[in-house]
Amino acid sequence: MTVQTNNMIPWAEPTLWGREEEYAVDALRSTWISGGIYVDRLERDFARYADARQVLAVANGTAALHLAYLAADIGVGDEVIVPGFAFMAAANMARMVGATPVFADIDPATWCISAETVAPLITSRTKAIVPVHTYGNVCALEPLLALGAEHGVLVIEDAAESIGSKYRGRMSGTIAPIGTYSFHATKTITTGEGGAVTTSNDAFAARMRLYRSHGMAQTRYLHEVAGHNFRLTNLQAAIGCAQLEQIDRIVAKRAEVWSRYRARLLALPGVEMQVIETDVDPVMWAVGVRLNYAHFPQGRDAVMNLMMASGIETRPGFYPASAMPHLYGPQLLPISDALAASILVLPSSPSLEVAHIDRICDALASFAR
Ligand SMILES: *Cc1c(COP(=O)(O)O)cnc(C)c1O
Repeated sequence: MTVQTNNMIPWAEPTLWGREEEYAVDALRSTWISGGIYVDRLERDFARYADARQVLAVANGTAALHLAYLAADIGVGDEVIVPGFAFMAAANMARMVGATPVFADIDPATWCISAETVAPLITSRTKAIVPVHTYGNVCALEPLLALGAEHGVLVIEDAAESIGSKYRGRMSGTIAPIGTYSFHATKTITTGEGGAVTTSNDAFAARMRLYRSHGMAQTRYLHEVAGHNFRLTNLQAAIGCAQLEQIDRIVAKRAEVWSRYRARLLALPGVEMQVIETDVDPVMWAVGVRLNYAHFPQGRDAVMNLMMASGIETRPGFYPASAMPHLYGPQLLPISDALAASILVLPSSPSLEVAHIDRICDALASFAR
């Protein structure tokens, strides 16, 4: 099942374990290769899986965020609070609609923003708070939603990395009024490129449908707003339908991988793992470790090179906002900066077997002192 070349353990692998090929060929033969029945089915199936009121399939997770901001009428003069350490699509889309991304530092244990780090940043211009559920953990949402409610600020969950993760029994991405997902090849379910946006608010859903498809609603060629084309194709959606049929199996395998890593790494000196609070039931998309430089004096990047030389592909933590002053301006984010420099993401595919994980952990242990 694993696609390993030269005995190299890849950082991620898509899990095409079901009827992906059959459904993609069916979509192709139907000649409905742009829109079609698989798009509607994916939206229905995903709504059922996540228990979401409204689901829009879209071209990718970044377009999902862009639509969410358009739905919320975020634009010039507005501020959007995003994490200082995370994949930066939420910050970039704030820029794209003319708003200013304001960076909150993260919690050193969960690696996510919290009400404590966000509260001091709220101003009269704050239009949205975007908790990013990094690596599959879920931000402490209840205090963030309470903070948003107190100030009349919308919360938008970026659940691209937390498909299937639950917070207090509810699916991440469906707890705030809007949530976004990515179906990129590395993500927990994939359509190659693709994504979805969920909302409990029918007015937001209507605006997002409008912007998703050229700003046209009832009348063809009559544009109500200057919209995008952010649609997912029927060919991609066909793959997504097959992925959703397999999601319980994918989630179960991810749980096994996470559990084996925890058993090995929690016992390894010099390595800290992301803390998952008890009200989160995570589907870990990526297994990150924070290296303590007392045990890894060679530094994170050198460890990555050593792992690569041992046939193990790893990834660094995201660059923090402070590393991109040309985009975001100067930042004071001590925890984001420290974590970004010391996090190493280990191979995290659900196809990994115990023997692979042991090989990875043995290699990492051998580089510690
Ligand atoms: C992957 C990802 C995205 C972007 O999704 P694409 O489908 O690649 O556009 C957005 N936010 C986060 C947190 C991600 O990990």
